[in-house]
Formats: sequence, C-alpha cells, structure tokens
Amino acid sequence: MVDRVSMYVGGRHCPAMGGEWLEIENPADSRAFACVPRGAAEDVDQAVEHAQRAQFAWASSAPSQRAAILERLARMLRERLDDFIQMEVRQTGRPLREMQAQLARLPEWYEYFAAVARTHEGRLHPFEGDFLNYTQRRAIGVVGLVTPWNHPLLILTKKLAPALAAGNTVVAKPSELAPITVVMLAELFTEAGLPAGVFNVVTGLGAEAGKALCEHPGIAKVDVTGGTETGRHIGQLAGAGLKGFAAELGGKGSVLVFNDADVRAAVSGALFASFIATGQTCVQGARILVEKSIYSEVVEDLVLRTEALRLGDPLDPATQIGPLVSRRQMETVLRYIDIGKQEGATLSCGGERATEGDLEQGYYVRPTVFTNVSPGMRIDQEEIFGPVACVLPFDGEAHAVELANATPFGLAGSVWTGDIARAHRLARQLDMGIVWVNTHHRIDPSSPWGGFKDSGVGGENGIAAYESYTRVQSVVVNTSSDPFDWFAEDGKQKRYS
Ligand code: NAD
Repeated sequence: MVDRVSMYVGGRHCPAMGGEWLEIENPADSRAFACVPRGAAEDVDQAVEHAQRAQFAWASSAPSQRAAILERLARMLRERLDDFIQMEVRQTGRPLREMQAQLARLPEWYEYFAAVARTHEGRLHPFEGDFLNYTQRRAIGVVGLVTPWNHPLLILTKKLAPALAAGNTVVAKPSELAPITVVMLAELFTEAGLPAGVFNVVTGLGAEAGKALCEHPGIAKVDVTGGTETGRHIGQLAGAGLKGFAAELGGKGSVLVFNDADVRAAVSGALFASFIATGQTCVQGARILVEKSIYSEVVEDLVLRTEALRLGDPLDPATQIGPLVSRRQMETVLRYIDIGKQEGATLSCGGERATEGDLEQGYYVRPTVFTNVSPGMRIDQEEIFGPVACVLPFDGEAHAVELANATPFGLAGSVWTGDIARAHRLARQLDMGIVWVNTHHRIDPSSPWGGFKDSGVGGENGIAAYESYTRVQSVVVNTSSDPFDWFAEDGKQKRYS
C-alpha cells in the first residue's frame, strides 16, 4: 500500500477531479512508495479560480505583511528541514549529503525576497514641465510555475519567493517525478499564515496539467524550468496568450582548465561540476577543456578520482553518487554512452550500469569519462543529463573560448586559472549567463542566474527577479495651478506632449 499525497488547492488537500493517481517511484530501488493526483484541465481551472479570488487582497496587502509571512515560513522550514530532506532524497535519489547542503540554504531565498519586498522603492522621473511622474511596481496577477525534478524545492523556491513577495498568487505544477516536497511546502505556507488560494499546487503530467496551466487565460505569466524543447513548447503557448514568459532551460557547461591553475583544485572542481547530482544539473560541467600541456596529468587524476567515487544508497551519508532519477533517464544515459563509443571517443572509465549488490534494484550508472572527444560529436554537443564528462584539449586562450562557446547552449561554465587578468578577460568573451572563476555551481539568492542562447529567457535571483514578477505603472500628476483648456481660443501657446 503506497501513501496518497493529495494536491493542494485553495488552502486544502484535494484529489484530481478525474480520480486518477500517478505513482511516485524511489529511483534507488525502483519501487513506488507514494502516489499523487493526475491533475488535468479542470483541476487547473479550479486552482486558477482560487488564485484569482485571493489575488486582490494579497497584492494590496502591505509589502511588510507579505514579508512577515515569508520570514515565518523561513523559520518553520529550518525547523522541519529534515522531513523535507528525507522526502527529497526518496523521490529524486539524490544523496543525503547533497540534499542536506542544498535544502539548508532554502530559507535564505524567502528571507532575501522578504527583505526586497520591505525595501524596494519606486522611482521619480524627470518629466518635463509641471508634472510629478513616479513609477510603482504592481503585481502581475496569477502566475504559473512549471518546475523539474532535479532540484524540486530549490527551483520552485527561486520562482516562488519573488513571485509571492511581489504580491502575485501562484499555481505551481511540479515535475510528475518529484512533486511531493512541493505539496509539503504549500501545507507549511498555510501554517505560516499564507491566505488560502495564494499558493496552489496541481500535480500531474506535463502534457496534461502542465499544458493546461500554460494556456489558461487566467495566467498572466509562465515561468518554467525544464528541457529546452519543453521551454520552446511552453513559450509558444505563452506567446499565443500574450503572457509573460521566463524559462531556465538545458545546458552543456564547460570547465576550462589552464596550465597556470592549481591543478589539484581544478580537478576537484571538475569532479564536482561533472558528477554532483549524478550529473543531473543544468550547469553540469559536462565538457572539461584542458590546456594541452597539462592534459595527460589532468586526465590521469580525473579518471583515478572518478573511479573512486562511492555509489550507494542515497540515504547513506557516505554515498557520493546516487541513482539516476528514472529508468528512462538511465536508458538515455546508456544510449549516449553507446553513441560516444560509436563516434570514436575513448571510454576512459565508467560506461556501464552498476549492478553489484542492492544497486541492481535502482537506476545506477557508473560515473563516466570520455577522452579523445572531438568538438562536434553528439556527446560533446547534446545535453545528456547524467554522469558523463567529455575531456577535450585546447591550445591557448582563443582556442579555449572558441571551444567553450561552440554549443547551442549558454548557461554556465567555469574558468580555472592563477592569472586573475585572464579570468576577467575570458568572462567577457564567454557566451554564457554565469561564469565562475576557480569555483563551479555556486549560487546565492542575490546573484543573478539565467542562460543565454538555447539555455533560456529571463532569469532568477537578485532584485531583477523580484522586478520580473511586477509590472511598471507610471503615474503622472499635474502640479500646475494654471487652468488648461486645449480648445480655448485664448491665444496661449499650448502643449500636449
Ligand atoms: P522537462 O522539460 O521534462 O519537465 C519540466 C517540467 O515541464 C515538468 O514539470 C513537466 O511536467 C513540464 N512539462 C513537460 N512538457 C510540458 C508541456 N508540453 N507543457 C507544459 N509543461 C510541460 O524537464 P525535467 O526532465 O523535469 O528537468 C530536466 C531539464 O531541466 C534539463 O534539461 C535541465 O537542464 C533543465 N534545468 C534547467 C535549469 C536552469 O536553471 N537552467 C535548472 C534545472 C533543470
């Protein structure tokens, strides 16, 4: 018997109107341990109605009132963190040590955007003549958030915190693979004092509940994180409805290692960039670009340390690499490994499913390193979203930049060098939304996050994220005491612009 976790609409739990359920599997043992409602268009309609009813009061409440609720939520989340961590591990298969580190930081997002709501100021504009012109930020309305499974709570939080702080109400559609912690968060928000209907969660499939949400006329903005094709599809739906649109999409990140870097630290960075989350992150350092003179040294150390990574039960604190999220994801990764071999790359380690002991029950693939990879191979260009890293040599700075920019994606990358001038010079030349120097995958609520090229539209984090959840309203006030009568035949020079 598996647990039934209802969705959360209008401040209470409810099943889908169609009465169907979707199973949620633990990827570490491939067993279903829970099920969630298979929401459809009628469930989305109901959630949007609740969000619309709650919208006026929430948007008109004082920013300090909204901030106080977000701050209370942050406190309560810290107290209950362990329940969220355990569930996040069960539904995603990501190791406990990763989810402990990631979720411990979530409250900071609610605190940061509470602070932005408390302190954000309107502007005064130098309007010519006897006029006072100011602009104020108004909430957009009801926003739809569509989120993936790889960081279920973090990604939802990056969108939800600014959306609520700015006075919007929300309908979220979490991934069908990992929706439970998002429902748990909605319950906690009610306990923290969020009025019913302000944050609603409809569970279900992308092609059903997700699509219905993105085309619903009551939704003013859609913000999605997911694959690039999903983003394109949702962008079309949003465009047809003249809705606001933001998208955080796929990536194929590069790690650039120069011969003046601290090589040991660079390999540690590459290992982290490639294999954290079992390679299932959008900013994965899937391409490791290494200066020719240190190529052999880096490859040798990287392969040795990759082979030493510990696969195991994600709930075991000693585990470093968990399973992939689903059978489908595992099959995709194994298919790409075959493609890499057929393309003539050298498989330097990994390259197969791990089946020893209990691992056989889950979707484990050994961390894999390909060398002798040529630019343009499919394994070098396409997002695999698994523990597969390609190592390519480069000859000098210009070649490194050319290689790093030669993919359709432009999300993130890191530069490892001892020369700080080179680091800044390269940052300006790399066609990507985030460049890390001598580090990788560092994130903060205040630090803008978003992709160039096929990696997305718009961005998250920072004051810009709060503003992206608002519309600018311009108020023009006549401060002149002179009467104005356009049609009076009084011989006075008139102006209207
Ligand atoms: P996905 O595209 O399969 O699904 C993402 C969400 O979109 C899910 O909730 C899904 O149900 C929904 N969806 C799918 N098709 C839809 C449709 N036609 N209409 C409406 N909704 C639809 O992605 P995923 O497998 O859950 O996540 C992995 C992808 O997300 C990777 O490509 C990864 O790079 C990307 N990602 C990007 C970032 C970033 O910040 N740029 C962060 C995390 C993940």
